[in-house]
Order: sequence, then structure tokens, then C-alpha cells
Amino acid sequence: MSFSEQMRSTRHDVNRLSALFILATLLTTSNCAPTGASPEPRFTSPCGMTYYGPFPDAGPSQFSAEDFARAEFVVMDSFYRDDLFKLSYEQICRSVSGWRLYSSNYSAWIDPEGRGVMGLTACWYAAMQIGADRFGWNSYPHELAHVLQNCDPPPGTPDDYGTDARHSNWVRDGIYQAIQNAEIRLQEEFP
Ligand SMILES: [Zn+2]
Repeated sequence: MSFSEQMRSTRHDVNRLSALFILATLLTTSNCAPTGASPEPRFTSPCGMTYYGPFPDAGPSQFSAEDFARAEFVVMDSFYRDDLFKLSYEQICRSVSGWRLYSSNYSAWIDPEGRGVMGLTACWYAAMQIGADRFGWNSYPHELAHVLQNCDPPPGTPDDYGTDARHSNWVRDGIYQAIQNAEIRLQEEFP
């Protein structure tokens, strides 16, 4: 695997509609000044994803274990009902087992490429980060779609409605539509 392949990750372009998020690279090339502290694990979801909470800790994004479990079920059930990845609910659920989820104190931030993002997925770290917005408005379903593709869409011309290579099949295979369906269900669940 090349270094650039290892750098694969996802991110969200805040200048677009939620259905038009773009993949990007993540933190590994960035110099940083570590604080020596990290977010603490808060809880693990029914499907096995551990939520670490934002850092620093005082932000508005504090998903409860109950809300996170509900959101997880809603999105996975929605993907399953849309038959998006031709997987059983159990297979979809298992896909996030062992993953780490971090939230942010902000709705969006700047990634190392200088682009505004609402979320990131790093398959080689089994880690994702979502913004502070409530479920239905944050990038959680979008990031889960990347997980289910292992951050690796089938090869294809990235001509889908202006998407990039990492979302190359997301229009034609209905992934953006399924994300939107899941978002609508989340918005009903978390009014
Ligand atoms: Zn994406």
C-alpha cells in the first residue's frame, strides 16, 4: 500500500450540501504540539463503536449513550432497508465494531489541506470524527457510508455530480440518496 493510499480519509466540504461531501486526507502529515492529554472513552455503542467525546471537554457536543445507540440503529436500519450495500443489518452493524468516534466542539473545522470539513473518516485508523451538530445535521451517516465502503469506492470516473474519486459511485449507486434518507429519519428521531 502506497503512502498516499494510507493517507486516504474522508472529510466534508461545508460549502456544499450535505449530500456533496468530499473525501480528504487526514492528520498524519501534520506537525502538532501534543498536550499530553486525550479524550477519554465515554461508552461503546451496541454495534461496538467507542465514543470518545470532544476535546477539550467543555463543548456543546455531548452525545449520550442512549442517543448514540438510537442514532446508530436508525442509520444502519435505514441503510439496510435501502439495501445499499447488499448486507444484512448484522453485517452493517459489525462493520463499526472496534471503531473510535470522536466529536468536535464545532460544526466544522479546517482540515490539514486547508478545507472546511464537517467530518472525517480514517479507515486505516478505524476512527472517525463528526461535528457538534445534532444527529440528522452532522455527518454521521456520511461517515458510516465510508466505513461500509472501507473508504474505497469501486473504480470509476469521478464524474458523479461533481464528486471526487472517493465518492465516485455515490450518486449512481444511490449512496447520497440513502444518506439523505437516513438524515430524514434522524431528524424525525431527534427533532
Ligand atoms: Zn465523504
